[in-house]
Amino acid sequence: MPEAPDLEVIKDYLNDRVKGTVIEAARVLRPTVLRPLAGNLAEDLPGTSLELFRREGKFLLCQLSGDRWLAINPMLTGAVQYCEPKARVYKRTSFVLELDNGMELRYLDDRQMGMVYYVDSEQLDGIYRLEKQGVDVLAGQSFDDFRAGLKKFRGEVKGVLTRGSFVSGIGNAYSDEILFAAGISPFRKVGTLKDEELERLHRQSRIVVEDAIGVLRERVGDNIHVKIRDFLKVHGKGGEPCPVCGGNISQLNANQRLTNFCRRCQPGMLNRN
Ligand SMILES: [Zn+2]
Repeated sequence: MPEAPDLEVIKDYLNDRVKGTVIEAARVLRPTVLRPLAGNLAEDLPGTSLELFRREGKFLLCQLSGDRWLAINPMLTGAVQYCEPKARVYKRTSFVLELDNGMELRYLDDRQMGMVYYVDSEQLDGIYRLEKQGVDVLAGQSFDDFRAGLKKFRGEVKGVLTRGSFVSGIGNAYSDEILFAAGISPFRKVGTLKDEELERLHRQSRIVVEDAIGVLRERVGDNIHVKIRDFLKVHGKGGEPCPVCGGNISQLNANQRLTNFCRRCQPGMLNRN
């Protein structure tokens, strides 16, 4: 799932290269992911310019001319590709925008679980998941606000972080990284976290995301549709040695969600009840 670090880098890339271009044609190949509330993409989009790209939590927004927006919620496997027209069209490509700079902007989605809304600004405000997002992980929320905000939530800390209504922009991978950096077990109930643990969680949420953005800026290049995760410390590293204590990194796979953590560095009972 693209999370705040991935989307920040993609957003900046698109603002550098695609902002200001005009759509010459739009081709819909697989409509499953589309929510065209403001009209028909193929008919409406030609002549429209791409004015600005913005990230909101785990959404990528593209403001178009004429009070129109594309709001992309990539969910697990959605991706945006920027390429020359001759580049092979992946089988799971949903739509293609042909731009007046001779390039193409495509949306692809392996599992077709993402959602791409084509809306006006009033409809944009009504998109459920967008509207319900919590404070962005990079918004610089104070510790006091962070602690007060968390009091409204119950359950395991990983679930609260990824749901997006407390802090937005964090998904499965970066929640594992943040909890590892903070030394907190993903299964701890948020109500049991002490102030010093909350302080570490608050601090590391921002540090882990900012560090990842730094790494991704160096490495993503033009392949913005390819997710880079190999530099993470625990997520996707089950069975490998913990970079801090050398013990084995644990792995749990539940509901198609991989959770990795170090039992020694992130103590706490594994209690799923
Ligand atoms: Zn460890």
